[in-house]
Amino acid sequence: MSDNLLYLQQKIAGCEKCRLHRKRENIVFGEGDPHAEIMFVGEGPGQREDWKGRPFVGWSGDILKRILVRLNLDRFRGVYITNVVKCRPPDNRDPIPDEIAACSPYLHAQIYSIQPKLLVGVGRFAANLLAGTEDEPMGALLDRDDLMYRRDIPRKGIRIEIPVLGIYHPAYLGRQLREGNRDKLRETFNSLRGRLIKLSIISEK
Ligand code: URA
Ligand code: SF4
Repeated sequence: MSDNLLYLQQKIAGCEKCRLHRKRENIVFGEGDPHAEIMFVGEGPGQREDWKGRPFVGWSGDILKRILVRLNLDRFRGVYITNVVKCRPPDNRDPIPDEIAACSPYLHAQIYSIQPKLLVGVGRFAANLLAGTEDEPMGALLDRDDLMYRRDIPRKGIRIEIPVLGIYHPAYLGRQLREGNRDKLRETFNSLRGRLIKLSIISEK
């Protein structure tokens, strides 16, 4: 891990900045390549993630892995995975605004440290948050190529701009698959693949 990320992870250890610390087993900081070109950002850890202290290691993670494998990507090489909030919201509810406000400086610091070529908002919640859009449905976000993460870093006098792609949440894709519907998975895969080719992160084979 880069020194920056390691420092940040150490800084977060034991964090009690919001109520989510009370019921967590583990903080799920995030993991992957500190020089990743693609950064996946989910909403918050689920139960298995909370147990393991790692992002996307439950059945949502299995679907995400399937997508990565098909793209010839490895979650530890060129890829970084994290969440908007680092502690599990009870009963998998959405994080609420004061929790997001407390935790998002960590996410912004991770993005600043990694500066990927593409930020992937996994699910509607994370995608809207990264792109600064207001609760748009995923169907309206999936094919938009104008979405941007923008952040001023006043102490450096710079502004970071990173393209954002929103994809359907793997938990939703899993439910669709169980109902025998592969359309949304295909749509998600094609959209991600198209964007990665456009940004020259993968080649068109
Ligand atoms: N869902 C998420 O949004 N994040 C995880 O880490 C796991 C499931
Ligand atoms: Fe701290 Fe974030 Fe966990 Fe809240 S969710 S306790 S801000 S690490």
